[in-house]
Amino acid sequence: MTLDNIKQEINKANSIILLTHENPDGDAIGSSLAFHLALKEYGKESDVVIPDYPKTYSFLPGAEEIKTEGRQETYDLAIALDCADIKRLNGFASYFENAKTRIMIDHHSKNTMFGDVNYVNPVAPACSQILITVLGYMGIEINKEIGTCILAGIITDTGGFKYSSVTAETFEFVSELLGKGINVSNIYRRVLEIKTRPNFELTKIAMNRLEFLENGRITFTYITKEDLEKVEAQTGDYEGIVEMGRGIEGVEVSVFLREEDNGFKASLRSNDYVNVADVCLMFGGGGHIKAAGCNLQGNVEQVKTKIVNEIKKYLK
Ligand code: 5GP
Ligand code: MN
Repeated sequence: MTLDNIKQEINKANSIILLTHENPDGDAIGSSLAFHLALKEYGKESDVVIPDYPKTYSFLPGAEEIKTEGRQETYDLAIALDCADIKRLNGFASYFENAKTRIMIDHHSKNTMFGDVNYVNPVAPACSQILITVLGYMGIEINKEIGTCILAGIITDTGGFKYSSVTAETFEFVSELLGKGINVSNIYRRVLEIKTRPNFELTKIAMNRLEFLENGRITFTYITKEDLEKVEAQTGDYEGIVEMGRGIEGVEVSVFLREEDNGFKASLRSNDYVNVADVCLMFGGGGHIKAAGCNLQGNVEQVKTKIVNEIKKYLK
């Protein structure tokens, strides 16, 4: 049984590295830190390696222990969290490949099953929520610190408990955390509500550029490298901008492009029936049914045409 394999491999390992996806969000970071703290409780040291992450999450317990690279080339055990594809391992696929044993824990439906032991629950709203089961199986108690990291992941990936992916277990867990005296409202505010100034400035720019396409069923907007420089954006200051379009009446898909050195990173969100993971898969990306992403080459107009033409195939 997979959970038992995970436990046995952890028991055997003397060196463990925890890895997550590039452009790490609250679930990537929350899952990594929750597992790191839990392993410590279990009597195992681990290295959490995340090269760069939004400073919004630096308040999370254990964040000061995040490393920008591994301490050794080869670990006994590598654990990938919240990552659907080995190509997205933060540029650290080699640590995963070089490890003697590889475990992958994730909640993306389009997962490529790239570990030796794969534990994927596509119904879980966040990878961090899966860890409740994993830690429970290992007999590790979820203390305040671990609970805070798990909660940060859930809040991020459910948009603050509002996506359809939320399950009964989500609220049971939050109820337990409240019972343990964890300040859920404060974590919610820090993860989701407080915006950095550059994020606010970028949101204004994106809002002004937002267009309605296909009879108002698609919204499209973008930010350029120049915008990012102008507002002195840091990693993650563009998070959440894609949500703006999805909240407008009649909109099915929201598209947000962010210019990178080599083309654009696209973020897609849908409301009801368009599977944006399928749309993104067409361009080598992926994600979830209602939240997905991919990378595209070309100028804004070319990229817009490519994505919109693909989405149109799914519109009712
Ligand atoms: P976001 O739009 O917030 O960057 O990403 C939304 C979801 O899609 C996340 O679950 C993220 O992991 C996934 N995603 C974003 N970009 C890519 C990509 O290029 N490839 C894959 N496989 N998934 C992606
Ligand atoms: Mn996630």
